[in-house]
Amino acid sequence: MSEPRSPKEARRLERLKQGSRAARDVRPREPSAPRERPNRPPPAVGETGGTSDEPTVVLSRRAMERLAHGHVWIYRSDIAVPETASGGQVVRLADERGWFAGKAFYGSKSQIAVRLLTHEDEPIDEDFFARRISQAIALREAIRPDPERRRAGRLVHGEADLLPGLVVDRYGDCLSVQTLIEATDARRDLFAGLLERLAKPRAIIERNDVRARAYEGLEQRKGMLRGADPGPIEFLEGNVTLAADLLGGQKTGAFLDQSENRIEAGRYARGRALDCFTYGGAFALQLARNAERVTAVDISEPAAAQGRASAARNGIANVEFKVANAFDLLRAESEGGERYQTVVLDPPAFAKSKDTVEAALRGYKEINLRAFHLLSPGGVLMTNSCSYHVDDATFERTVLAAASDARRSVQVIERRGAAKDHPTLLGVPETRYLKCLILRVP
Ligand code: SAH
Repeated sequence: MSEPRSPKEARRLERLKQGSRAARDVRPREPSAPRERPNRPPPAVGETGGTSDEPTVVLSRRAMERLAHGHVWIYRSDIAVPETASGGQVVRLADERGWFAGKAFYGSKSQIAVRLLTHEDEPIDEDFFARRISQAIALREAIRPDPERRRAGRLVHGEADLLPGLVVDRYGDCLSVQTLIEATDARRDLFAGLLERLAKPRAIIERNDVRARAYEGLEQRKGMLRGADPGPIEFLEGNVTLAADLLGGQKTGAFLDQSENRIEAGRYARGRALDCFTYGGAFALQLARNAERVTAVDISEPAAAQGRASAARNGIANVEFKVANAFDLLRAESEGGERYQTVVLDPPAFAKSKDTVEAALRGYKEINLRAFHLLSPGGVLMTNSCSYHVDDATFERTVLAAASDARRSVQVIERRGAAKDHPTLLGVPETRYLKCLILRVP
């Protein structure tokens, strides 16, 4: 009899050997015959395309269920790793019976030890990554073509583009790359070469000076991967010109996940507007289109300075940048009886980990409560949370509690998320971190 080609077929053959299910069920077990399963050699699936330098990582039943539910991360506690496996390698995945379950990046330091690349038994080589990057580029071209390359957007969004640990942002004709895990870091020259060929950028900057790399045992690093430092790059968001210094700037660039929400906020702006946690003023400058005057608040002086420069560059005169703690400013203004027709709250992630969720919710409630006090009748609040430890339902409950305390009814105009070039994976809730509510108080 030929070898089974799938678990299902193997079970069918097993049944055939033992007779029908009914017959087997009534046949008494022979107590003396030990079950051989533990020592049975793994079935001969997955021999094609497999290469000997890919160790096999065995997944627990729970890990297999996670994959079956569409997740792509497996934790270290759910795997058995052969000694030959080293961090950054591509590994084969198998269930406890030896059946092939996919291929993945293996990380030796992170708690997320396995990040799925494919369910197929296919070679993970340059062609594979070229196909994945081309797919990512094709999605962006379908969403919002930018042939003149005057805008900015995310080109590769890590696991959500089936390229775990790789993030690529495009600003005009330059790329900013982050290789966040051992496996992508080890291949960063390969990715730079592919991006050069497929996206034809003028320069590729590496911004690997991000904290997340510490979990992977990777050092902080930034520099040029291809081309020369382009200096500050101007790009369009809606009709506003923004600038990002990809290599020299404090952070990796703009908060591109909010780009569509900022343009949307501009549509709703009226009268006197307030933009809290403004950073470089990207929301404020959109609000300025339709508002009479805008107050933009950030605790960081360099951020405010950048905002003022952007306003000047765009000839926008109705935005005032204030350096202040937004919590203090919101309290002072609401106690002082100030009124606004439009308020934007876009704070940093208050919940950086599971342990800080409760404190984070108090923070969200506080700023939203103040915002509801400040809104005049018919006013619009755009409130955001980018904490992925706070899910949609919890965030909405918190905002509702704030509205109730302020004795305001709330209409939901829109529930939004990150821009479309930051797709999410249906089976991976972690990819859906940004929550944006557009609310109106009647
Ligand atoms: N809204 C911005 C992104 C905001 S990022 C945009 O669309 O581009 C969060 C900002 O909040 C950072 O610039 C940070 O300096 C600022 N920030 C953090 N804590 C703050 C506080 N307590 N008061 C005011 N600003 C704060």
